[in-house]
Amino acid sequence: MIIQRVVLNSRPGKNGVPVAENFRLEQSTISDTVQEGQVRVRTLYLSVDPYMRCRMNEDTGSDYLLPWQLSEAADGGGIGVVEESKHNNFAKGDFVTSFKWPWQTVAILDGSSLQKLVPQLVDGRLSFFLGAAGLTGLTALLGIKEKGHVSAGANQTMVVSGAAGACGSLAGQIGHLEGCSRVVGIAGTDEKCSILVSEMGFDAAINYKKGNVAEQLRELCPGGVDVYFDNVGGDISDAVINQMNQNSHIILCGQISQYNKDVPYPPPLPPEVEKIQKEKNITRERFLVLNYMDKQEASVLQLCQWIREGKLKVRETVVEGLENIGAAFQSMMNGGNIGKQIVSVSK
Ligand code: NDP
Repeated sequence: MIIQRVVLNSRPGKNGVPVAENFRLEQSTISDTVQEGQVRVRTLYLSVDPYMRCRMNEDTGSDYLLPWQLSEAADGGGIGVVEESKHNNFAKGDFVTSFKWPWQTVAILDGSSLQKLVPQLVDGRLSFFLGAAGLTGLTALLGIKEKGHVSAGANQTMVVSGAAGACGSLAGQIGHLEGCSRVVGIAGTDEKCSILVSEMGFDAAINYKKGNVAEQLRELCPGGVDVYFDNVGGDISDAVINQMNQNSHIILCGQISQYNKDVPYPPPLPPEVEKIQKEKNITRERFLVLNYMDKQEASVLQLCQWIREGKLKVRETVVEGLENIGAAFQSMMNGGNIGKQIVSVSK
């Protein structure tokens, strides 16, 4: 059977900025026959995520991520519909997902790598399983629960960087749902900041590309910062950490401002910022959602319930066509997305 796939065309280099041309669309073939235990799926949606930047390097720098190989199909989170099944758990027409979905229009996958989806949980909005009701939502929820030390009634102020992105936009809302009294977002455009406040219930938002972040933070967080959901690292995080309270907590979710640099993860703080962190006893433990998968089922149900109740507002930026996945990745890394960046491959 003839299919389309997207392969890694070239590596940006450890210190390079990834571009759409690092990927290449090509025609390929898959077997016409499905073996015992396998399932043939048609791809509906694919996810592009910041961690994929590490997979573009020959050495990902982390023990749980394998590098993509040149001229091989890239892979990541995906959703599709079963066209033919020789696995007991799946039947034609089922909707399924996997973290290792190849960037192909059609694929034959081992049934054991797939999870069945229940569309009713998200009122049929299947792509949510790649975002708010998938790993992204889990990252926001479990990051806050495991590392945030949020407690209702404690009058805590939370700051979220990368606030208008997939994780950040959920993290701020979940901060409120879990009991923070004030949530302030930091994002890269005025439009993003306005959506955070008017749609997502953030109390205030700062455009880090305009004006002085530290000054605006001081104004907007007069009682200091108790919880910092850090998606970006670098100068923005240094400014936030400077204004954190004694015994406060950083949720070390990601450091996207450092992903095009050859630095270790997590990148060390500059000495003067590390001094403040130590003096103020601010926790900054590594958080990796994949370490909490025993909490996946209950947490997804919680997220889906909040979505259906309208307590969690979800935004997506959808790009159409497998051929545009490289451009979608490049755009997401440069802030082109509001909410989760999704690629719609077929209807
Ligand atoms: P997003 O949807 O947030 O997309 C990335 C965003 O990062 C862009 O929209 C852009 O928004 C912002 N950005 C890019 N470059 C910079 C920069 N130099 N400085 C500040 N902001 C920048 O992606 P995700 O929600 O998928 O991921 C967010 C973070 O969470 C990432 O760091 C990712 O690695 C991490 N992550 C961690 C997981 C874990 O288990 N710990 C799991 C999943 C994600 P803007 O316009 O505001 O610049």
